[in-house]
Amino acid sequence: MTEGLTDAERSRADELDAHARAGRVLPLVFDAPRRGKPPRHWADLAPAERKPAAVEAGLPGFRASQFDTHYYAQASTDPTSWTDLPAALREQAKVTFFPDLLTEVRVQTADEGTTVKTLWRLHDGNLVESVLMEYGVPGKRSSGSGRHRATLCISSQAGCGMACPFCATGQGGLQRNLSTAEIVEQVVAAMQRVRLNNIVFMGMGEPMANYNAIMGAIRRMTDDLGLSARGITVSTVGLVPRIEQLATEGLPLTLAVSLHAPDDELRDTLVPINTRHKVGEVVDAAHHYFTTTGRRVSIEYALIRDVNDQAWRSDALADLLTKNGRGAGWVHVNPIPLNPTPGSKWTASRRHDEQEFVRRLNARGIAATIRDTRGQEIDGACGQLAAKER
Ligand code: SAH
Repeated sequence: MTEGLTDAERSRADELDAHARAGRVLPLVFDAPRRGKPPRHWADLAPAERKPAAVEAGLPGFRASQFDTHYYAQASTDPTSWTDLPAALREQAKVTFFPDLLTEVRVQTADEGTTVKTLWRLHDGNLVESVLMEYGVPGKRSSGSGRHRATLCISSQAGCGMACPFCATGQGGLQRNLSTAEIVEQVVAAMQRVRLNNIVFMGMGEPMANYNAIMGAIRRMTDDLGLSARGITVSTVGLVPRIEQLATEGLPLTLAVSLHAPDDELRDTLVPINTRHKVGEVVDAAHHYFTTTGRRVSIEYALIRDVNDQAWRSDALADLLTKNGRGAGWVHVNPIPLNPTPGSKWTASRRHDEQEFVRRLNARGIAATIRDTRGQEIDGACGQLAAKER
């Protein structure tokens, strides 16, 4: 019965029907519930807002640059230890600008201590995780070879509304968007441990569904924390209008698109947003991102045994990426063996199917390298972040 519905309601109802037909139980959720906005934090403020905010709190303007030095240059998050502030002001600064947004609940390590997953509790009890991965640590074989590098995988939402059936976070639904400061705080906490080279928005959440907050956080990372935009990767299911918007920001960020299937029929079920933005549209937008920014785009592809790992699908992926005279130079494919989530009917591809999948792409001139899976035994690998203790 769809009589008496507005156009918007009818289109929503149609969409839910399409989901049900595809055998899914979870609807796509774009708008996070508005509840539980976290308290304002210094890291929410753009540079031009800081002095006025200090003055408004009754402080001389120069305190703003002191706060910046402690927080951004020294990654110090607790004003009560800032001895160059008068004692009374330390407490006031904490209450007004540096409330505790993230409380460490648990830290787990793997790969000889070079993978560290932290579970954080937010002010309203929601949980998120971030994962720090170090590479090329002398004496730690599981960290790999080469020069020392550190990548932090961060969350952009508590939960996720994109409902991908193979992803643990996607199966838990969306709790809420993170604020800019809640995202920045994950980065600052990791900087207290190690110098970071790369940030990837590949933790919990769909970053493009929380666009303003992630852009704020990215500006803090590049302008205040001194990280290179080239080292920051925004990973998305393929929200086409947001990919277009990202291309206009004037920042050489890396875009990663979670493709997982080259054909609409399969992608409709693996990445439900595909029912709105078809795979061809998503790849066009990704290619447009390359032509406007000059940044090579990463394509993520979780290899699922006998589901999306057939030789013909590798060929179809090569066709899709190179068609319309695009060539192969604009893109890098990152297949990753599926990390099965608890109770999943799917499993990772066989080794030889994985290799054949990559070989066929390479034969077409497409760069493709299997992504390693760090931290599997601590549920810290891609798609496993579910904050189980919720
Ligand atoms: N929402 C964003 C970013 C978070 S997930 C996105 O979807 O891109 C980061 C990557 O991990 C995505 O490519 C996602 O599809 C992938 N992923 C999710 N679950 C996975 C699993 N069980 N095994 C392997 N990769 C998975």
